[in-house]
Amino acid sequence: MNILSSSPEIPTHSDENPLHIAQRQIDRACELLELPVAARKLLRQPLREFHFLLSVQMDDGSLEVFPAYRIQWNDARGPGKGGIRFHPQETVDTVRALAAWMTLKTAVLDLPLGGAKGGVICDPKHLSTPELERLSRAYIRAMSQAIGPDIDIPAPDVYTTPQVMAWMMDEYESIFSRRQPGVITGKPLCVGGSIGRDDATARGGIYTVREAATVLKLDLKGKTAAIQGYGNAGSHAHRLAVELLGMKVIAVNDSQGGIYAESGLDYRKVQEHKRRTGSVVGYPKSEPISTSDLLGLNVEVLFPSALENVITERNAECIEARIIAELANGPTTPEADEILHRRGKYVIPDILCNAGGVTVSYFEQVQNASNFYWDEATIHRRLDDRMTTAFAAVHDTATRHGVHNRLAAHLLAARRVYEAMKARGWA
Ligand code: GLU
Repeated sequence: MNILSSSPEIPTHSDENPLHIAQRQIDRACELLELPVAARKLLRQPLREFHFLLSVQMDDGSLEVFPAYRIQWNDARGPGKGGIRFHPQETVDTVRALAAWMTLKTAVLDLPLGGAKGGVICDPKHLSTPELERLSRAYIRAMSQAIGPDIDIPAPDVYTTPQVMAWMMDEYESIFSRRQPGVITGKPLCVGGSIGRDDATARGGIYTVREAATVLKLDLKGKTAAIQGYGNAGSHAHRLAVELLGMKVIAVNDSQGGIYAESGLDYRKVQEHKRRTGSVVGYPKSEPISTSDLLGLNVEVLFPSALENVITERNAECIEARIIAELANGPTTPEADEILHRRGKYVIPDILCNAGGVTVSYFEQVQNASNFYWDEATIHRRLDDRMTTAFAAVHDTATRHGVHNRLAAHLLAARRVYEAMKARGWA
C-alpha cells in the first residue's frame, strides 16, 4: 500500500499539469530564497504517497473498483492536513499538486499543520447514498494506520460532504474502538463539527476581498461580482458578497452552464432553484451565459470557485475584473499570472483566498481536542484575525519585493516550511 514517490519528472516547457505547475512555483520560490539543496528536494516532492484500490459493492450486487490516493506532501510544521476529493477526472498528479498547495496554504496562515490531500476517481453523481457510504468507509479502512489527529487529518473537498466525513470518522472510530473526532474535520455539528465550517472557505475569501479593497482604495458597495462555480465555496460566496460587502452578483455558473442578470441575482432564489433542479441553469429571471463570457465580464470582483486551470494564457488578456479572488485551488496558470500582473489585476491567490476552510478545520480540531466548543462570534472573529494577518503578510511581501501576490505567498510559505525543516535537522 505504501509506495514512496518516485520523484516525478519536470518537463522544461510549460504545461497545465497541476503538479508541474506546483513544482515550478516551488522551484521559483526556493531559488529566490536561495534555500539549500536538501530543502528544495523536500519541498518539491511528497514525503509519502499511498496508492490503493477500493473494491466496493454496488446496489445491484456487482463489485466496482475505484483507484484512490492520499498524498502527504510535508509535515514539518505539524500533522498533514487537507481534503479528500471524489471526482471522475481526478488524477494522481492533481492530488499531488493539491497536497503541495495545502502545505503552502497552512504555512501562509501560520497554522501548526502540514499539507496533504486525498482523492478517489469516481463519479459521486452516479452513486447511490449506500454506495457512497461503502466507498467512504473503504477509503478509511485502507488509510486507517496512516491518518490520525497527530498524523494526517482529512477534510471535505470537491464532491465530499459533512455526511461523508461523518461516515469516515465513524469507520475510523470503529476500527480503534474509541471516540476520536479530531481524525477528520468538516463533520456535521452533531458529531463534533465546528460552527462556521460550512461557509468558512467563502467567508475567509470575502474577508480577503475586503482587505484588498482597502489597500486598493476601492468602495465595493453596490459594485458587481461574478462567480465561476456554485459548489460549497461559490454558493456561500454569493450570499456573503451580498451580505458582508453589499455587492451585486450579476453572473454565476456551475458544471451545467451559467446565468446572468444585470440587476443582480438573488442568492436565496438561485440557491433554491439549484436545490430543486440540480443546477443554476434555467433560473427564471436570467439569461444564459457561457463560461468564457462570464470570466470576461467587466466586474469589480471575479471569484473562480471550481477547479484548476480556468484562467490560462489563452484567456488572461480577456479578464476585465479588478480583483480576482481565487476560492478554487489552482485556477490560474503561471503564464496567466504574469499576464494578469502586467495588466494591473489584483489576484488574491488560492493559498490565501480559500484558506478559511482549513483555518476553521484547525479550529474544529482544537475544539475536538479540548472537547469544548466555541460560539459563532468567536469563530468568525478568530477567522477574521487569521485571514487579515495572512493577507497583510502577503501584501507586504509583494510590495517589498515588487512581485505579484502569488509569488509573495509562495515566498512566505516556503520560508516558513524551510524554517521548520531546518529546526528538525532535515535541511
Ligand atoms: N479542501 C479544503 C482546502 O483545499 C479544506 C482542507 C481542510 O479543511 O483541511 O483547503
